[in-house]
Amino acid sequence: MGHFSLAEILHNSNYLVCLTGREMIVEDGIDSMRDMKTAYEIELKYGYSPEEVFSAQFFSTRSEQFYEFYREEVLAQEKEPGKAYYALAALEEMGILKCIITRQLFNLDKRAGCQNVYNLHGNIYDNNHCPRCGRIYSIDYMKKGKVPLCEKCGVPIHPGVTLLGEMVEIGLTTRAADEVSKADTLLILGSDMRTEMVQQFMKYFHGDKVVLIHGAPHYADKEADYCLYGKITDILASALKELCEKVEDQQILCNSHQG
Ligand SMILES: [Zn+2]
Repeated sequence: MGHFSLAEILHNSNYLVCLTGREMIVEDGIDSMRDMKTAYEIELKYGYSPEEVFSAQFFSTRSEQFYEFYREEVLAQEKEPGKAYYALAALEEMGILKCIITRQLFNLDKRAGCQNVYNLHGNIYDNNHCPRCGRIYSIDYMKKGKVPLCEKCGVPIHPGVTLLGEMVEIGLTTRAADEVSKADTLLILGSDMRTEMVQQFMKYFHGDKVVLIHGAPHYADKEADYCLYGKITDILASALKELCEKVEDQQILCNSHQG
């Protein structure tokens, strides 16, 4: 792999698409249900694994327990986006980054100002809806009562996230796959090459550079062309700084994002 400059790669890419994974939200202080420790604690507390509770079946048959879990383990983790997301927003504004594809539910990318985001599994803010009449409810409404009910129909509101056992909207996946097929550079953040999402989208990638940034080496890293290890926030921030020095005419824009 040798020495390489991330800023240089970003600068030279014509169509950059980014996949963001679990470690991105962990860096911003969100516990991931996939962490062994968290999964074990959840099983002790609820008597079921996170996968069982966070499922369509659990939602429809035990909505009270589902909502206890959803509020205490998901909504309670609402956090502000960290600097990595602002760096992505800056890259998008500079015209380098074309879109972000993620399964994370906290909408941190959009809240940091990213425009083109494919939230494959929805998010906790938008589309909390009544399964009967379709009325939309705010996240604040979702935090109230034991089970948030539709004011009109009295049935439990479905959160704006995809539960296990539910179909991901096919159109959304197709459009995300289209973006990947147009990319010359794929930036994979906070995930290894073997996660389901990365494997799913790698099938559509025909570009020449896969850049992987995550915390620690993984046996499948050789499937990427370039790897960087460490805090994604720090790596992106320093690449953005270097990039801004390269692109002098965008200096003002860059400065406004680094403040
Ligand atoms: Zn309704």
